[in-house]
Amino acid sequence: MNTPDITIPSDLLPADGRFGSGPTKVRPEALAALAEIGANYMGTSHRQLPVQMVVAELRNGLAELLRAPDGYEIILGNGGSTGFWDCATFGLIDNRSHHLSFGEFGSKFAKAVKAAPHLADPSVVDSEMGTHPELASVEGVDAVCYTHNETSTGVMLDPARVGDAGELMMVDATSGAGGLLFDPSATDVYYFAPQKALASDGGLWIAMMSPAAIERVEKISADGRWIPPSLDLKTAVDNSRKDQTYNTPALSTVFLTAQTVNWFNDNGGLSWSAGRSAKSADILYGWAEASPVASPFVEIESQRSKVVATIDFDESVSADTICDVLRANGIVDTNGYRKLGRNQLRIGMFPAIDPDDTLALTHCLDHVVAALG
Ligand SMILES: *Cc1c(COP(=O)(O)O)cnc(C)c1O
Repeated sequence: MNTPDITIPSDLLPADGRFGSGPTKVRPEALAALAEIGANYMGTSHRQLPVQMVVAELRNGLAELLRAPDGYEIILGNGGSTGFWDCATFGLIDNRSHHLSFGEFGSKFAKAVKAAPHLADPSVVDSEMGTHPELASVEGVDAVCYTHNETSTGVMLDPARVGDAGELMMVDATSGAGGLLFDPSATDVYYFAPQKALASDGGLWIAMMSPAAIERVEKISADGRWIPPSLDLKTAVDNSRKDQTYNTPALSTVFLTAQTVNWFNDNGGLSWSAGRSAKSADILYGWAEASPVASPFVEIESQRSKVVATIDFDESVSADTICDVLRANGIVDTNGYRKLGRNQLRIGMFPAIDPDDTLALTHCLDHVVAALG
C-alpha cells in the first residue's frame, strides 16, 4: 500500500525526529565532540593513554551515574548485550539459573542458556505479553536473570533481591541503564549496551559487577571450565581494571558513551536523566489515555516502561500507516515490535530525547490520525 500523502505542518514537528528503541538518537553535541577530537583519538591504539583515559573516564562516570556500591566494578568488553549473554553462560552461571521471560530479550538469553551443554536445564517462568512474572526465589539455582526493561514489549521490572546470598541477581539493563532509577545494591550484574538509553553506538557490553559476581567469575575460572577466550569474563575483568578491553573496541562507541554519561552526571546524575524519560512517559501515556483511538498496551501502570512506550491503536486506524506517514515526515523508527503482531507503535523515550519533542510527537500523531480519518 502506498503511504498516504500527508504533510505534517512544520511548526508541529519535533526538533529531532529520532524516536527509535535501538539504536537510538545520538545527540548532535556528542557527534560534534567526536568530530572535534578527531585524529587525536580515532585511529589510535587502545593500549595507549589517549584511549585508556576515555575508558577510565567512562568507567568512573558510570560508577557515579549508577551509584555503584562499595566494591562494585565497571567491566566492559566486545559483543554487545547478546555477546554478554554468552559471557555469562560461560563465566557467571555455575550450574543452574532461573529466568523471567516476558519478551524477546529475556527469552533469547534463556534459550542460549538452555542450549549450553555444561549447564543444567534452566528454570524459566513467563507471563502474558505486556506483563512480567513475579520475581521469586527458586530452589537450587545460583543466578536469577531478568530484564530491567523489556524493550520489545515496553514492560519494566524494578530490580529486587530474592533468594539467598548464593544467587546472583543478573539484570539485563540494555535499554534501562541511565534511563530508569533503581537500587544498585539489589543487583549483582547490571549489564547493558550503550546504543539505547546511553545514546551511543553498538558493539560494546558494559557490566556493573558486585564483589560476589567477581568472586563467581574467579571461581568458575579456577575450576578450569573451558571458556572461549573472547568470552572469558576473567580476562575482561583483568583488562577492564587496566582501562582496556581484551580485543579492539569501537573507539567511537566508547567516546560517545562517555559523552552521554558526562552529560547526565554534569546535570545531576541518574535522577536527572531518568527524570527526563519519566517526563516523556507522562506526556505520551497521558496522550494515549486521553485519545479516542489509542491506549497504552501495558495495562498495569507500575509495569509500564518509562523508556519505551508501546501504544495500541484501535482498528479504525492502522499503526503501520501512521508509522509510514511519520517516517515520510522525518519522524523515524516508531514501528511496533513485529513479533508481537499488534496494531501498535513503539516509541523510545530515552533521556537524550527532549520531552518537548515527545510533546511535539503527540501533536503530530493527532494531526496524522485526523488526516487519515
Ligand atoms: C537491544 C537489547 C539487547 C541486545 O543488545 P545488543 O547490543 O544488540 O546485543 C538485549 N537486551 C535488551 C533488553 C535489549 O533492549
